[in-house]
Amino acid sequence: MGSSSCHSVIIIGAGISGISAAKVLAENGVNDIVILEASDRIGGRIRKEDFGDISIEIGAGWVAGVGGKTSNPVWELANQSSLRTCFSDYSNARYNIYDQSGKIIPSELAAASYDKAVNSAIQELKNQEEANLGNAISEIPSSPKTPIDLAIDFVLHDFEMAEVEPISTYVEYGDEEFLVADERGYEFLVYKMAESFLSTCQGKIADNRLQLNKVVREIIQGSSNGITVKTEDGCVYKARYIILSVSVGVLRSDLITFHPPLPEWKTEAIMKCEVIVYTKIFLKFPYKFWSCEHGKEFFLYAHEKRGYYTFWQHMENAYPGSNILVVTLTNEESKRVESQSDMATLKEAMAVLRNMFGFDIPTATQIFVPLWWNNRFQRGSYSDYPILSKHQDFIHIKAPVGRIFFTGEHTNEKFNGYVHGGYLSGIETSKMLLDEMRRVEEDHIDTESQRNFLLEPLLALTESLTSTNTAASDLKKWEDISTVATSRLFLNNSTSSPVTQEAIK
Ligand SMILES: Cc1cc2nc3c(=O)[nH]c(=O)nc-3n(C[C@H](O)[C@H](O)[C@H](O)COP(=O)(O)OP(=O)(O)OC[C@H]3O[C@@H](n4cnc5c(N)ncnc54)[C@H](O)[C@@H]3O)c2cc1C
Repeated sequence: MGSSSCHSVIIIGAGISGISAAKVLAENGVNDIVILEASDRIGGRIRKEDFGDISIEIGAGWVAGVGGKTSNPVWELANQSSLRTCFSDYSNARYNIYDQSGKIIPSELAAASYDKAVNSAIQELKNQEEANLGNAISEIPSSPKTPIDLAIDFVLHDFEMAEVEPISTYVEYGDEEFLVADERGYEFLVYKMAESFLSTCQGKIADNRLQLNKVVREIIQGSSNGITVKTEDGCVYKARYIILSVSVGVLRSDLITFHPPLPEWKTEAIMKCEVIVYTKIFLKFPYKFWSCEHGKEFFLYAHEKRGYYTFWQHMENAYPGSNILVVTLTNEESKRVESQSDMATLKEAMAVLRNMFGFDIPTATQIFVPLWWNNRFQRGSYSDYPILSKHQDFIHIKAPVGRIFFTGEHTNEKFNGYVHGGYLSGIETSKMLLDEMRRVEEDHIDTESQRNFLLEPLLALTESLTSTNTAASDLKKWEDISTVATSRLFLNNSTSSPVTQEAIK
């Protein structure tokens, strides 16, 4: 067994939620922390790669929710770091639909298909509400069948209405979106945040409170007032508390074993929250063969298989002269592509592009296919709550279990799935933990003063006694009382009674 060390708090995962949680702890004087990150970098699902002479964002790409009355905190962080971004509007995509013979579908036809899809989505939502109330369903919307209807349906459901309306992000922060186009990457925000409380050397984090390549495999809560974490390389860490920021995909997998197992109310909440796989495939060409006119940044391909290389974007607005196209796949198509070779994917993508633009176009010289589903530290791209999820599901997914506090984008009821959801969840979880630490401390002080109040006369009495046995047994009783405050938290581990956030406060 490797090294063993003891800390106030262990933070598992160094994505934006883990780093924002650690920052709040550090700012509140809790410096005795350690961040255990499974991969060799920080940032998690905010991740850049070098590709074709530029930085591509293989994870989060947009700051979504800008231009409203309230400022998106991630937009503020982006501005503080002077992150280069460019305005992005994919609502035009539905007017740039190519059929399989390369013809652009007339805009009236596209608009009619779009209206039909919106009406079906509204009807579907109404039906679900009625079904939840136990009422009969009056009208079943027809499902899309033609290539154009399938393309529109894909854009509507997998992009524009991937969440239930009204979308909190747009309501709260505004409906504009900005694509990050900065060589330092979107992840620069996470580094800036980490640098504010971790020491650095020559521009790199060099602080032993951040430990990379530490894959947590076991979390053990005993009956004493501590918690033990074991990593894949055989190291053992001990702490008073844990903040667990891994994705819901990881929680649904068997990567981490909990002793005792998580209570049923927690596992139910985790299993109710689904996972979207969202894959951006990057293709580099020797030259451009697509239109770069205004309103043509996004275009669609209509195919009889829903989501088959449907959603395309050129990178010329973000990086002029880069000659890069991005095609986005989701869910089953993402999984299918992840399981085949990049050459097979390139062949499929080129066949689609040749259908749209003709046989003379050049073959891509480079391809990048990110693996979010087969990455055991992610197991998907972001959380997806079923339409009409209950408030209680969110309470359960973020409620602590004993000394384990949960955070991450999936725990944020309003902004799950987004970078700002992850950022805000880290702050919220740390505040909850700080409240808990203060409460335990106060309980401890109360117990201590009660103990001194009774102990002083008792000690005076024992001095006058010849036998010390009585005093020793009384002292033992006080030790027992003082451990009550710290062990109280373990009551939350009960399998029968879900802990609400309110109960924790
Ligand atoms: C392809 C894609 C596109 C996206 N597009 C956008 C977008 O445009 N705009 C937007 O706002 N959001 C977008 N998102 C969502 C956004 O990236 C996430 O919501 C956010 O980054 C999640 O942060 P997090 O801290 O909750 O989780 P993560 O970033 O996943 O952090 C969790 C960390 O835990 C680590 N970990 C996992 N298991 C272990 C273990 N056993 N031991 C130790 N460490 C472990 C992981 O390596 C990871 O670093 C996108 C995501 C993806 C994947």
